[in-house]
Amino acid sequence: MEFSREKRLKARLAGDRRGDLYPHSLQFYLQPPTENISLAEFENFAIDRLKLLKAVENLGVSYVKGSDEYKSRLEREIRKLKFPFKALVEDDYDARRKDHISHFILRLAYCQSEDLRRWFIQQEMDLFRYRFNELTGDLVEKFLKYVNLSYGALTARSLPAVQSDERLLPLLNHLSHSYVGPDYSIQKNIGKISLEHIDALSVKSFPLCMRQLHKALRDNHHLRHGGRMQYGLFLKGIGLTLEQALQFWKSEFIKGKVDADKFDKGYAYSIRHNYGKEGKRTDYTPFSCMKIILSNPPSQGDYHGCPFRYSDPELLKQKLQSYKIPPTGITQILELVKGMHYQLACQKYFQLTHDVDDIGFSLNHPNQYFTESQKLLSGDREVKKEPSEPESFQQKLSSQKSTSSCSIPISSNTEADTELEGLDAYFTED
Ligand code: SF4
Repeated sequence: MEFSREKRLKARLAGDRRGDLYPHSLQFYLQPPTENISLAEFENFAIDRLKLLKAVENLGVSYVKGSDEYKSRLEREIRKLKFPFKALVEDDYDARRKDHISHFILRLAYCQSEDLRRWFIQQEMDLFRYRFNELTGDLVEKFLKYVNLSYGALTARSLPAVQSDERLLPLLNHLSHSYVGPDYSIQKNIGKISLEHIDALSVKSFPLCMRQLHKALRDNHHLRHGGRMQYGLFLKGIGLTLEQALQFWKSEFIKGKVDADKFDKGYAYSIRHNYGKEGKRTDYTPFSCMKIILSNPPSQGDYHGCPFRYSDPELLKQKLQSYKIPPTGITQILELVKGMHYQLACQKYFQLTHDVDDIGFSLNHPNQYFTESQKLLSGDREVKKEPSEPESFQQKLSSQKSTSSCSIPISSNTEADTELEGLDAYFTED
């Protein structure tokens, strides 16, 4: 590319408006621009693209990427700066040319350091994702054919992620999908749980994060703040009243280093706080998986957080083995964890501990896990069972003679099951 005014005029006079250069509004060019342009045009194109990328960056931190607000604001910027914005508009040669040239200029400018490259690629990737998602199915096919990429339907949608950091992408995708499920601070089942049921429930119906917290509380007679918040709100969500919660925590803490007086002065306040009886009197909502996975990582001595996210894989494996998860199931779970699919790993855990082939819901919340487990165990929900085998996982569990509290069979007729009779009915409401 050359930048002399004289040559540009010659090019224009020669009728250099070849539509075949830019058959699509979206480009994946392999050749740099070869025409001659003026220094003024060079500068204007570069500044406009820089403005566009700055807008992409600002919108990306102000709005959920892909939301209606994000898209409409980005479209406005693209139109204002005269870049191609609608694939169906055929007569936008100038916009496509500007797109091509300006991209190449900024490549030159932003290839000079690792930081600059990262910034440029991130903004271009977001811009490309937006524009690609705006294409109709026909145009996606046409575009992929033109650029000679052999991707089919769904796979093509992941194209913009090709240049991204694979380790970050799942987390970024998750971040843009905030929790929109039921609010588990509304206690449908308030007062329907006896404290004596909690040990059995923790084995049968708690997700791994809450089972881990419950076990740590029983073992250590104490949980640090992050654990008390996560577990306390979960228990509230499954139906513990404030009075039960105070009794539950106190009875456990006074077995350790905290005496009754210290508990009343130091810990009871925060439990009443969780129930909206102190401070701002907010009725706190149990934490969703997203919140547990993404915020407040556990430190040494903490038991909160999502074990699929934060446990060392070897420790997780040992824990799953101690919970009698079969080796193939453990392998599948660890594979999902490796791919950062923590909620899918948890769904697999649900599937294996409930002996079902299809869990029938998409997991977003620990309290959802509990409710679905109780529905299933009460027989309220039809489930697809694994094909019968000479000795099923359930039978294997039933044949275990372990007295550990972690090995209560899922469906055996134990004393714990008898205690729980009648309770399940409270979790079958919609
Ligand atoms: Fe708990 Fe959700 Fe993690 Fe499962 S995926 S262990 S419910 S935080």
